[in-house]
Amino acid sequence: MALARIQAAVVNGLKALGKLNEAQATALLNSNDDMSGEGLGKLLQTEYKVTDFALLTARSRAFGISPFHVRNFQVDELTFEKLDRDFCRENKVLPVGSAGPFLIVALANPFNLQITRKITEITKQKVSLLLAPESELMELLEDKKEQPTSVGFGDVFEALGMEGDFDESEIAEGALEDEESAPVITLVNRIIEDAYYSGGSDIHIEPSEKTTRVRVRIDGICHEKLTIPAKVSGALIARIKVMSNLDISEKRLPQDGRIVFKQYTRKNLDIDLRVSTAPLNHGEGVVMRILDKQKSTLPLPALGFEPENLALYRGLIQRPFGMVLHCGPTGSGKSMTLYSALNEINAPDIVVRTAEDPIEYTLPGICQMQMHRKIGLTFAAALRAFLRQDPDIILVGEIRDSETAGIAVEAALTGHMLFSTLHTNDAPSTVARLTEMKVEPFMVSASIVCVCAQRLMRRVCKACKQSYEPTGREAEVLQKSLQWKGPIFRANPEGCPACGRSGYKGRVGIHELMGTSEGLIEAINKEADTALLKRVAMLNGMSTLHQDSMKKVRAGLSTMAEAISNVPPDMEDLDAIREEFALEAEAKAEAEAARKEKVEGYKRQRAQAAADKAAAAPPAAENQSSV
Ligand SMILES: [Zn+2]
Repeated sequence: MALARIQAAVVNGLKALGKLNEAQATALLNSNDDMSGEGLGKLLQTEYKVTDFALLTARSRAFGISPFHVRNFQVDELTFEKLDRDFCRENKVLPVGSAGPFLIVALANPFNLQITRKITEITKQKVSLLLAPESELMELLEDKKEQPTSVGFGDVFEALGMEGDFDESEIAEGALEDEESAPVITLVNRIIEDAYYSGGSDIHIEPSEKTTRVRVRIDGICHEKLTIPAKVSGALIARIKVMSNLDISEKRLPQDGRIVFKQYTRKNLDIDLRVSTAPLNHGEGVVMRILDKQKSTLPLPALGFEPENLALYRGLIQRPFGMVLHCGPTGSGKSMTLYSALNEINAPDIVVRTAEDPIEYTLPGICQMQMHRKIGLTFAAALRAFLRQDPDIILVGEIRDSETAGIAVEAALTGHMLFSTLHTNDAPSTVARLTEMKVEPFMVSASIVCVCAQRLMRRVCKACKQSYEPTGREAEVLQKSLQWKGPIFRANPEGCPACGRSGYKGRVGIHELMGTSEGLIEAINKEADTALLKRVAMLNGMSTLHQDSMKKVRAGLSTMAEAISNVPPDMEDLDAIREEFALEAEAKAEAEAARKEKVEGYKRQRAQAAADKAAAAPPAAENQSSV
């Protein structure tokens, strides 16, 4: 018996990727062994030296399921909240996150048709599947050691001689002023570990007159973690500076550094921290950005794209060349979207190069370069080097100067797909930012594939949200942006245990996706201003950030208060825009008709003149009568 249809698709996929030659593929396709998927996989890996990565890519294409790289996945206390570990082991599945109504599940065996129904029965959630290699999945599921869920500070305080509510006189002298003393070392480690386990993105250490406050940003909001006596803060900050290779004696100037935390902790934590110190009025302050190297990207459908935006975006990133730009302030989820996009289009047959500062996610099968401005390794320098290496896809962390902008556009116009970010507030103003950076408008219009502005809004807690009928201004805003009215949700001010009493849990992305169109290209070439570009894009069906945020409110994912605090309502009114453009088109048509009329009139005049002339000068030549 020849191979089953799906196994044949895998073999053909590998052939298309160049991992099997014609003869090998034919031999496999005609083999008489009755092979299971697993058997074929083993054979491909041992006999034909096909890599895990290539096999996963080929299988995911054959099944039409996005691939998931288990090695980058970090189990946390919520992983097995909905499906317990035993169930997962038995069924070879791994819940890797949720997105709106969907539970995202990685599975090893797509032939297990019952599994989606089973999971839906247990969790009451719809299921979105990803494909993972069985060996990696089982390795993770069989890993017995549970991750520590949180760490306390009690014992460190004890060692430092302070209670939760400290009394300065009780603090042991000496030990606290030395950055190498054991309690200070432990305290720094504990602050970092605690921030990491509570899902924080940044740690802020801010001195005030008598105390130093440690705050951690979680889901975009700062939470106070602890207050320590000012006396300890000197040693604390000195210790952080030692860990980041900074000059301890320099306290008057800001410094930047990096901590490779793996070197300092015995816990299995592979994180880096980007450290920035600054002299403030009450002493030095420190901000540490946590860069989790084990963090995995989420599949694109999990990022909160509306279905029409997702379909459009997925289509656009498959283009062979051009520029895909993401914009928004720091912390708006730009990098996550970029990496998810890269992950989706990455395959063994394409070459991807990235220039990043800092490298926030590590992706399999992709070569990433860390920038180093002090020695001259800038985005522009990296881009220039990449152009010589001729990759298919280039990711540049950020376009912030005219040099980088120029080379980026050049790359996009010479057959490369270029992904990058800019710090603009909305999609249409990206065009003006690029022209400010001395890129000619016709180069901008020729290179841009799409611009996506985005923000992250807090999700309202599903367990305690409260339904209500909006009135007044809120109803007006909904009506104007979506032409819709109906009940929406507000956050419970009391919160519940599920959301840590905040009323919100997790975040969802909102997007303003501006794809190019004939009208937009024309407007860019005519150097139209941002406001006009926005109107053209809206007329082409672009949903603004505000409209997208309202869709999330309508869907009950977030609240009106959260949406409005993120993005103010648009000034534009779609009906007015339609009218404006209809009038313009009408005026254009009228002008065109008038022009035609004029030309016709002229033609008629000329014909009349010729006829008169012919009549005045009779039978000169017969062949002229046809004029
Ligand atoms: Zn709640």
